[in-house]
Amino acid sequence: MRGFPLEVESNIGDFMQILDGRATAAQLKKEIADKVKKIQAAGGKVPHLAAVIVGDDGASQTYVSNKVRTCEELGFESTLIALPSSTSEAELLAKVHELNENTEVDGFIVQVPLPDHIDEDKVTEAIKPEKDVDGFHPENLGRMMLGLPTYISATPNGILELLRRNGVKTTGKHCVVVGRSNIVGTPMSILMSRNAEPGNCTVTLVHSRTANMQEVCASADILIVAIGKAEFVSADMVKEGAVVIDVGTTRVPDESKPKGFALKGDVDFEAVKDKCSFITPVPGGVGPMTIVSLMQNTLRAVERKNKKK
Ligand code: NAP
Repeated sequence: MRGFPLEVESNIGDFMQILDGRATAAQLKKEIADKVKKIQAAGGKVPHLAAVIVGDDGASQTYVSNKVRTCEELGFESTLIALPSSTSEAELLAKVHELNENTEVDGFIVQVPLPDHIDEDKVTEAIKPEKDVDGFHPENLGRMMLGLPTYISATPNGILELLRRNGVKTTGKHCVVVGRSNIVGTPMSILMSRNAEPGNCTVTLVHSRTANMQEVCASADILIVAIGKAEFVSADMVKEGAVVIDVGTTRVPDESKPKGFALKGDVDFEAVKDKCSFITPVPGGVGPMTIVSLMQNTLRAVERKNKKK
């Protein structure tokens, strides 16, 4: 790997650049923390994020504790509500209603996945759109579709910010999004096709029923992968000079690691990296950007409230 210019005019070059999510997120966190200090100095209310977790899924617990820790780092208030996996749907909905009405809480998330006996859609729809800082509520997703002000869900928004802040040009490019989930793939495909930069791409959305997967992926200038299959994307699926964004985070058993597992992306990083103009690592790529995007949305919730006063 060679040294890189800060501003990169073209994605297609003879070198590869790591899109460092940790460094970009650190920059953003500093900006958010500065804004919080200003709010505090002016006697305003600091952002307050609440997180609800149901059950004891290890990965979910890690995500939620990272979110709470980031709140502390940025000067936010935070509340963690940990409920047992035996919590009924009605009990969880009651908690959601309570948080909707709590004027101290500016935004909240209900960590997914939820236990099987709870309908995730029902819970998402019960969250007041103005407190839905995850951006999963149908109203917020609809507003995003229409290009209206809203909370854009954290992972797609984090990816846009990563592209923007690292000077990755997207206009006129062919973007292939792999995976069509409501929280990553589908919103990402819409955002990359909108009339904006980052955006203005010709977008192809592929999924598990796509027939010519390898061929479609290999035609991408920008390849965004969110499927949850460790190291699925191999070198023959990546075009020379492509920008590769790896959203996947799969825990793969690894006794050499202190926690007994390694976190793997959806892309075979070692096999693919030398073909790319830009690539995100896992960990340290999209993950840190997702958390900081959630914080941006929570700050926005407070700013919206303050504007209304
Ligand atoms: P999801 O809801 O499980 O959806 C997976 C999508 O991938 C589905 O659309 C599925 O297609 C598609 N898919 C599965 N196998 C495929 C294959 N072999 N070829 C093509 N498409 C395939 O997943 P998600 O919630 O979007 O998450 C995806 C990954 O991103 C997971 O590893 C998750 O942990 C990670 N993630 C990371 C962050 C972060 O901040 N880093 C945030 C969110 C998610 P069908 O629709 O046809 O079934």
